[in-house]
Amino acid sequence: IENGFYYDIDCDVTFTPEILEKIEEEMRRICKEKLPIERFELPREEALELMRGKDEPYKVELIEDLPEDVTISFYRQGEFTDLCAGPHLDSTGRIKGNALKLMNCTGAYWRGDSSRKMLQRIYGTCFMKKEELQAYLDRLEEAKKRDPRKLGRELGLFMTNEAGPGFPFFLPNGMTLKNTLIDYWREVHKRYGYVEISTPIILNRELWERSGHWDHYKDNMYTTVIDEQDYAIKPMNCPGGMLVYESEPHSYRDLPLRVGELGIVHRHELSGALHGLFRVRCFTQDDAHIFMTPEQMKDEIKNVVKLFDEVYSTFGLSYEIELSTMPEDHIGTVEQWEHNQEILKEAITEMGKSFTINEGDGAFYGPKLDFHLADSLGRTWQCGTIQLDSQLPERFELEYVGEDGAKHRPIMIHRVVLGSIERFIGVITEHFGGAFPTWLAPVQVKVMPITDRSRDWAQKVADELAAAGVRVECDFRNEKIGYKIREAQSKKVPYMLIIGDKEAEAGSVSVRTRAGGDMGAVALDEFRDQLLEEIRTRSLG
Ligand code: ZN
Repeated sequence: IENGFYYDIDCDVTFTPEILEKIEEEMRRICKEKLPIERFELPREEALELMRGKDEPYKVELIEDLPEDVTISFYRQGEFTDLCAGPHLDSTGRIKGNALKLMNCTGAYWRGDSSRKMLQRIYGTCFMKKEELQAYLDRLEEAKKRDPRKLGRELGLFMTNEAGPGFPFFLPNGMTLKNTLIDYWREVHKRYGYVEISTPIILNRELWERSGHWDHYKDNMYTTVIDEQDYAIKPMNCPGGMLVYESEPHSYRDLPLRVGELGIVHRHELSGALHGLFRVRCFTQDDAHIFMTPEQMKDEIKNVVKLFDEVYSTFGLSYEIELSTMPEDHIGTVEQWEHNQEILKEAITEMGKSFTINEGDGAFYGPKLDFHLADSLGRTWQCGTIQLDSQLPERFELEYVGEDGAKHRPIMIHRVVLGSIERFIGVITEHFGGAFPTWLAPVQVKVMPITDRSRDWAQKVADELAAAGVRVECDFRNEKIGYKIREAQSKKVPYMLIIGDKEAEAGSVSVRTRAGGDMGAVALDEFRDQLLEEIRTRSLG
């Protein structure tokens, strides 16, 4: 697995942290023994014989399920022999005992099947050097500190309540953050030629049958009954978008038509899978559907990728692209799939971008590009996606009148850039460790008078900044200034303005930053202009 390995064990003893430590000790001893690790192959019957002899029913089952033409291999080190395709190192001496660690132990059903036995799964990790292991453990520790559930509470961003598992609540600071993000989203999309619509959250069964969701996606949908008719709460915005498109005739001159929608969607997730803002049952998709002629496909894909580039770089997030191709269960012809995949490839290649291929992982209606963002802790999050779809226009019989005066079927792109706004807020909360760039920070400036005499000037400073559109708060409490500064720093407020008699007299402010920097006294105008420029350019600081 990404950062290590696991091994499933059927054992009556429960593996406590103390036992894991003992296993770790034994592993270190085995490393020191420098045992050779030898591979050998056996014909099926002999392989089964060997595993039955060692009372390994799980291995027997695995061998029995292997296809006929597979070579069955084993690896032996000292007295231990295991079924494995390999490859392996040639000696246990290659492993540095002090660079390995068993992390934890969880329950795991045999072959992921909840009707089978629950085994114990031990997770471990191993590096080339002790320093690399330590760096990895430090990163985990840092991630724990940045856990958005913890930061969400501390910074007053969001919360959960058992009254609605998987339905996050946004608090005032979180709402400011969300709205700022949405304002930015709208500004960018307007520049890239998008219009915006909003379609209903609840729509009737007939529509979901027409879109295919009622048959293929019903287990993930919440349904209700209105006037004795079945309705569903939308898990996706597409069908509503189709109804808007077909509500009036279109000419090739209207295309491409880029229609955005910040749609609130509900999808049922198992309660055990819910996790903070990362896996929820209700979220806002920053969706858009682009309707176009076949000739416009490549340019439109490029236009979307350009928009992605601009948005992701604003947050200092880099990305990798994955192209997912035709799955076994698909609709549409192979020729159509290959053609659309080729166009996706050409578009990103011509933009000088590289990609990897995820064979057979496309949506059932078309191939897609997934954008995996890397955060400051080196983790990746799949946020953006661009999906080419020739099928939904077919199902909804969408049309446009071409240059030849005849009716044609448009092709569409489904795309999201942030993915889910709520989840994206979770990602950037961790990415910035709660210290959002000034343009995003819920409170941008905190004004703190030192004495009662400096209160009037402090109020004036706050009023003037607020009038310029800055999110500013005053701290007039009777507390020591050091205490107020520490508190504002822990709330990750970018700037603190300390106002004493000297500042009141000179019409200046003493500026401190959340990182602990002391910028000294500057004229209010000067500070305000610098601040507004930082916000306008959405500087990462
Ligand atoms: Zn869609």
